[in-house]
Amino acid sequence: MPQATTTRSGRMQPAGSRLIKFFFGEELPFVSHGRGVFVYDTDGRRYLDGCSGAVTANLGHSDPEILRALHEQAERITFAHRGTFHSEQSEALAERLGAMTGYPYVFLCNSGSEAVETALRLTLQYWRERGEPNRSQFASHAVSYHGATLGGLSLSGHPQRRRVAEALLHEFNELTPPYAYRFAEGRDDAEFTELLVNHTAEVLDAHGPAAAGVVVEPVGGAAGGAITPPDGYLQALAGLCRERGLPLIADEVMTGMGRTGMMLASQHWDVRPDLVVLGKGMGAGYAPVSAVLVSEEIIDAIAAGTASVTNGHTYGGNPLGSAVALAVLEAIESRGLVANAAERGKQLRAGLEALARRHEVIGEVRGLGLLQGLELVSDRVARSPGAPIGSLTRAATFAARDQGLLVYPATGGINNAILVAPPLTVTAEEIDLLLELLDASFTSLTSEEST
Ligand code: PLP
Repeated sequence: MPQATTTRSGRMQPAGSRLIKFFFGEELPFVSHGRGVFVYDTDGRRYLDGCSGAVTANLGHSDPEILRALHEQAERITFAHRGTFHSEQSEALAERLGAMTGYPYVFLCNSGSEAVETALRLTLQYWRERGEPNRSQFASHAVSYHGATLGGLSLSGHPQRRRVAEALLHEFNELTPPYAYRFAEGRDDAEFTELLVNHTAEVLDAHGPAAAGVVVEPVGGAAGGAITPPDGYLQALAGLCRERGLPLIADEVMTGMGRTGMMLASQHWDVRPDLVVLGKGMGAGYAPVSAVLVSEEIIDAIAAGTASVTNGHTYGGNPLGSAVALAVLEAIESRGLVANAAERGKQLRAGLEALARRHEVIGEVRGLGLLQGLELVSDRVARSPGAPIGSLTRAATFAARDQGLLVYPATGGINNAILVAPPLTVTAEEIDLLLELLDASFTSLTSEEST
């Protein structure tokens, strides 16, 4: 029988509790409420949300405009099956999203993982309609994360999360990641890009007529911590896909919706992938909503064939989620949040680089806009991640929490990293406070380690 436990704040956790937690036995505070970039626990402690939850709460917490939209829609209708009714909210959302991203078609889902699966299935359907049903092999990168479902996990270079599901996963056609800090081995950007592209070509050629497409996070998030490719890499990857007639799928679940200072991160490199996966910031923490943006070529092939997308999830495109996501898009546009992400991102980056000069544990600062990552090392010269892998990430995350700052642990098994990714609504003063708290966190981390 489970025993009653006492949390760090003295709260009793009942013995009969049956809720499966993320980490067994971990003492976490209970969340109470949120306002703007701050989250409060039930003991009244305040935390600056320096990672937007899981890089999701892009508008901060309890935003009155989004709550109003949510409430108004909830009073009209929350659910209607899209096999029975069209929904004005979903139509309006698709139109707005299309206008803001330049894609003609949008398929709605609920989570990032579902949307990744949908992108895979749309690609498989595309090949089937074109008379090449044997194209089933997707290539994706080491040190990446594409979701918890078996398709998404099969694509993920995240040993920690793959472990228990390995027996059911599909073949992982692993590409060298554009992660210069650990994989460039002294090459400059151009040389490293060439190596990456050559390796990708080899992997695709090895699969020949079975190759179906390439999946990429334009900036790698959860598995490695804002892994930012050398300039030229994404264009080269897109070029390679184009030459071989293979769809390029950008997984922008974390990087999309303005997070990096552009509506889509692929726009930093003028790349237009055939499919783009969105999640997290779409509902911004107010409703579970995700989407796949789809190009003409994919839809045209499907329209000319079976003319139906034989795939969906019960809640996908529900009016409540769509109304919320539409309000989020309106807020992003009317408040200039993409520009704010770029501007505040510069301030954050400069501050993080200053911290790196003071704290030896920071091996590298990287990222774009308000998706910044810190690589953590136990030895800066040797670039050693310390042992066991993950312990430094965990220590830094807890040290920050003790200072009243939330950062996101981003480690997939080969490195230590944290993400610093506050809401896109963050102000200059709040960035200053975030940096102060992070500075104190690293100071306490180092002093704890030396005692
Ligand atoms: N793809 C990327 C790039 C992600 O970062 C994540 C989640 O972290 C996912 C997919 C999966 O999204 P979800 O957790 O909403 O299923």
